[in-house]
Amino acid sequence: RRKWRRVVGVLAELEQGCETTVGRLKQVVDAMAVEMHAGLASEGGSKLKMLLTFVDTLPNGSEKGIYYALHLGGTNFRVLRVQLGGQRSILEPDVERQPIPQHLMTSTSEELFDFIASSLKEFVEKEGDGSDTSLMRRRDLGFTFSFPVKQTSVSTGILIKWTKGFGIEDMVGREVSECLEQAMARKGLNMLVAALVNDTVGTLALGHYHDPDTIAAVIIGTGTNACYLERTDAIIKCQGLLTTSGGMVSFLYVSRQTSSDSLSDELIYFVIYLLTLTYLHLHQVVNMEWGNFWSSHLPRTSYDIELDADSPNPNDQGFEKMISGMYLGDIVRRVILRMSHEADIFGDALPKLSMPFILRTPLMAEMHEDDSPELTEVARILKDTLEIPDVPLKVRKLVVKVCDVVTRRAARLAAAGIVGILKKIGRDGSGGITGGRSRSDIKMKRTVVAIEGGLYTSYTMFREYLHEAMIEILGEEAAQHVILKVTEDGSGVGAALLAATHSSDH
Ligand code: ADP
Repeated sequence: RRKWRRVVGVLAELEQGCETTVGRLKQVVDAMAVEMHAGLASEGGSKLKMLLTFVDTLPNGSEKGIYYALHLGGTNFRVLRVQLGGQRSILEPDVERQPIPQHLMTSTSEELFDFIASSLKEFVEKEGDGSDTSLMRRRDLGFTFSFPVKQTSVSTGILIKWTKGFGIEDMVGREVSECLEQAMARKGLNMLVAALVNDTVGTLALGHYHDPDTIAAVIIGTGTNACYLERTDAIIKCQGLLTTSGGMVSFLYVSRQTSSDSLSDELIYFVIYLLTLTYLHLHQVVNMEWGNFWSSHLPRTSYDIELDADSPNPNDQGFEKMISGMYLGDIVRRVILRMSHEADIFGDALPKLSMPFILRTPLMAEMHEDDSPELTEVARILKDTLEIPDVPLKVRKLVVKVCDVVTRRAARLAAAGIVGILKKIGRDGSGGITGGRSRSDIKMKRTVVAIEGGLYTSYTMFREYLHEAMIEILGEEAAQHVILKVTEDGSGVGAALLAATHSSDH
């Protein structure tokens, strides 16, 4: 009895630590918007990197032609080919997935890219019309490269560091597209990288292609990240154009001193006026790298602190560690482990339970969504995966509750993140830009957020909690104007679309 009380105490403490009242979520929304401002103001101004992508045109549906895309982001890479018919029509894309041989992940950039170029060539030859690839007309390629990159243009960028098990030292600091293009040339493949993009940017591109009201994209899978369309004048850290017009102002000032031709002065002022107007209406996609977001308002528990300390990247990716599929299962495992330490309700000697990441998130989801009266799935997973046999029903129920608390917190924080983006661009219905008018007077624009990733698409309870929280934070009325739309394979198809929009022959 006393043991049971102790276990219930662990659960109560967890629930308290994971509390996400609407009040707290709104604080997270505000913190996200504030950090976004800070990250846009200066390099290193926030834990949010707010990376420039140089993508200032999103596909609108009129694109035509055949484009290829290459997706390198984890253990697999994908090549795909899309045929665009104009009028928002994409013929069924051909996709081929291939695992990256382990030894290439830590070899040399030449070896890795030769392997990729060979696979791409095979794919082009197989899917194409059979003609010699070196003779075919040049094709444009969208390259989704999901590692941190400092972009120098829409099609070029420098690798900042490897993640996810890759470690090819000679590649760090080098221009990514150039490495691929050189390998393609070595293989006699007539292709150019027209767009080098992050996976979230691909998702936004595909979303925008189907629905022009799409202004942001969120991925919630193994990891989590988001990007959105920002006004160029709000990106303070890249005020190239403004500096140019600043230069022009000083030039004007000088010319004013020396010239008396006021007509030409007026003309130049008019040109500046036009330039500024255009500038204010320009947009650019910003890759937030929101997995690294942090705020003291995030409900952090001792389990999060331990998970972070045990991770290979402590103090990094704090938001991601509370939200994404890579970690949720392990938070649950840590809670169960604590329960078993507090009171041996699971029996003794549980070596499996001490193994990090043994409980994967899809299994946690299965336990959470077990609706059998006896919770047979929960019993099976506890036995097969954690090697805890004969768990009484009462305890199984407790395990389901732990899954619920952990997932609910994750989903609600993700919702707060999304509303944070909407708030930053004045689309949350709070009247940030319209000023003093009351809520009901504000005409909210229809706003679409493209969303992708296994956690959101395959975990029903996660998705439902996220939707519920969006409504709680925004209010019923405003929430009706915000649509979360699932895109499929946006990171690949979207990259091909961006190759089309940014192609030199478009
Ligand atoms: P990635 O993010 O690795 O590119 P996905 O977007 O497909 O790929 O996400 C895969 C992740 O989604 C898995 O690592 C897992 O954490 C999570 N996931 C997949 N299926 C489920 C499921 N049925 N329930 C819960 N989580 C799932």
